[in-house]
Amino acid sequence: MRLQDKVALITGAGSGIGYHTAVLFAQEGASVVVVDVNDAAGQKTVDEITQQGGKAIYVHADVSKAADCEKMIQAAEDTYGALHILFNNAGISHANDDDAINTTEDVWDLTMQINVKGVFLGCKYGIPAIRRAGGGSIINTASFVASLGAATPQLAYTASKGAVLSMTRELATIHAREGIRVNALCPGPLRTELLMKYLNTDEKKNRRLVHIPMGRFGEAKEIAYAALYLASDESSFVTGSNFLVDGGITAAYVTPE
Ligand code: NAD
Repeated sequence: MRLQDKVALITGAGSGIGYHTAVLFAQEGASVVVVDVNDAAGQKTVDEITQQGGKAIYVHADVSKAADCEKMIQAAEDTYGALHILFNNAGISHANDDDAINTTEDVWDLTMQINVKGVFLGCKYGIPAIRRAGGGSIINTASFVASLGAATPQLAYTASKGAVLSMTRELATIHAREGIRVNALCPGPLRTELLMKYLNTDEKKNRRLVHIPMGRFGEAKEIAYAALYLASDESSFVTGSNFLVDGGITAAYVTPE
């Protein structure tokens, strides 16, 4: 198993990428700390893992709050004795996030608090724990929009993911010599409920699809497999990367077809 005897904490593990990653990590031998603000969803992830014979606990934590982040890291060490893998994955894409003119200050602040401060706080409390464990892997979920300007305006979201990518590079540089690797996992557009609700007609879907060389949306499970690689010792020489899993969208603006 690829994560035998490892302890992994995953934020936003009640849904989407976090959920698929939690189930996969447990199948690969990790003890998983499932973190979310949606208690029913988080508990459901834990139930599924334990029904499959894996190990997991649920911790309610809002990643934008320092006390909650301190508590979730403490829970990992108290329950499983260490922390080796920290997946700062929780993030929001606000329905009213728009261009500079139309995005309100409230939407901007909330997006930054969860998407950027949440990653900072996860690292603030998580890095000392990973140090105590003798090293490990931190994965921060950014997005392809950290590298590519998208035509559909989501200014706060895009800026927040750019911040996650640059924060990741600096963290990776600072902690490289103490055996702590830090990578930004950057998904392309996924066939998730959130995006499909937004691209709710064939015309809208096709307008987005034309920019993806593979001609399809990604699946959350495909991001989970990338997280597994970055979490495991197989990626022992990979740090500070902008790890794109995006069907080629950042490599080519127009598809050959
Ligand atoms: P999702 O909405 O399915 O899951 C996010 C989870 O995070 C939810 O369970 C939610 O309850 C939880 N959450 C929200 N705010 C929180 C907070 N303050 N503290 C703790 N948990 C919180 O989303 P997803 O598609 O799985 O996205 C996960 C990450 O991937 C996000 O950072 C997102 O920005 C990024 N991403 C998604 C896509 C996509 O197309 N879906 C593309 C690129 C990047």
